[in-house]
Amino acid sequence: MFDLEAIREQFPALHQKVYNKPLVYFDNAATTHKPLAIIERISHYYRCENSNIHRGVHYLSQQATEAFEEARRFAASMINAVKAHEIIFTKGATEAINLAAHSFGRMRMKPGSSILVTAMEHHSNLVPWQQLCLEYNGKLLVTPMDELGQIDLQAYTQLLDQQPVIVAITHTSNALGTINPVKTMIRMAHDRNIPVLVDGAQAIAHTEIDVQDLDCDFFAFSAHKAYGPMGAGLLYGKEKWLEAMPPYQFGGEMVDSVSFDKTTFNVLPFKFEAGTPNVEAVLGMETALRFIRNTGYEAIATHEKELLDYATAQLSQIPGIRFFGQAPEKASVISFLIGDVHPFDLGTLLDKMGIAVRTGHHCAQTVMDFFNIPGTVRASFAVYNTTHEIDTFVAAVKKAALMLS
Ligand code: PLP
Repeated sequence: MFDLEAIREQFPALHQKVYNKPLVYFDNAATTHKPLAIIERISHYYRCENSNIHRGVHYLSQQATEAFEEARRFAASMINAVKAHEIIFTKGATEAINLAAHSFGRMRMKPGSSILVTAMEHHSNLVPWQQLCLEYNGKLLVTPMDELGQIDLQAYTQLLDQQPVIVAITHTSNALGTINPVKTMIRMAHDRNIPVLVDGAQAIAHTEIDVQDLDCDFFAFSAHKAYGPMGAGLLYGKEKWLEAMPPYQFGGEMVDSVSFDKTTFNVLPFKFEAGTPNVEAVLGMETALRFIRNTGYEAIATHEKELLDYATAQLSQIPGIRFFGQAPEKASVISFLIGDVHPFDLGTLLDKMGIAVRTGHHCAQTVMDFFNIPGTVRASFAVYNTTHEIDTFVAAVKKAALMLS
């Protein structure tokens, strides 16, 4: 049973006023709020378990190490990885993608090689690959999209024929909401022996991920967009790739033996986890993933679809509104503009009415260039949002648009 009130009760930050108005938080694609269980998990770590992991013989260190490794096992089960050591903890999706680009990318790139991305990537899944191409005098190939924000699969097929060393695609676009047909795209790439990294930053809070079913080679996400803390995320990689890849960063923990002449490296996953990790954030991430599992992806998806459909229908009635991202397969993200109103001005007025939305290019400047716009206003919904909040939001958008036009 999906009990919205009971879910909202778990999120203390939702029950506050800003500028003396009840907060309406629609900036969930940037980061979600955190349930009490996560706040308490982090607090418990510092009150009772705090110690450095993997290197202590004492009780607390062993407890913390066990909790950390349990978090890895749980993350693996959550996305159905075959082995726990296929999970590399990072500080977020950005670091996970950089790890793959630096380590796997450098292992595969030769002068003139190419890498294939899509036209709707977040900068985090574009710039690392672009820079790698620059380093190797290679070519960044871009799969185009149409006006609705859908990938052009025919063009994708032709670009795959250029044998890029890797395909890097977003599962769900943060700027448009498009959910890409990643399983099909992975199969098409694999038919040509091309590995695929999936940027799952906007997926993990909304849809069940099964890396074996997708058959992706890498999958990246951040905890903070899925009810977890900032400073934690992960890179899933197939064991065969992770084994073959060189370390990404050097230092403590990732080594086996060190002399002045030579260093040998630790086994997976530690080879890729140099230095002291963000232990409390990883523990918080585990609690967040458990929150999602307990709530249930099906219930989350049903509720968020209801919010998306309701908000889209209500907003559609506003004269001069333009939506960006109208793919049939769409996450609970609405990017829009009204007439000539600048998104920043609209966002600022909404803020004064207690409504948090994001304005600007959403770290996807190439998407904005495609539509020839400076940015959009983006409302993104999470499991705890309500249709009542949407009513407040739509009324506020109407009022602000009148004031600004
Ligand atoms: N990829 C996508 C699709 C995103 O939306 C984001 C963040 O907005 C990222 C990657 C980067 O995530 P983070 O900043 O948590 O590393």
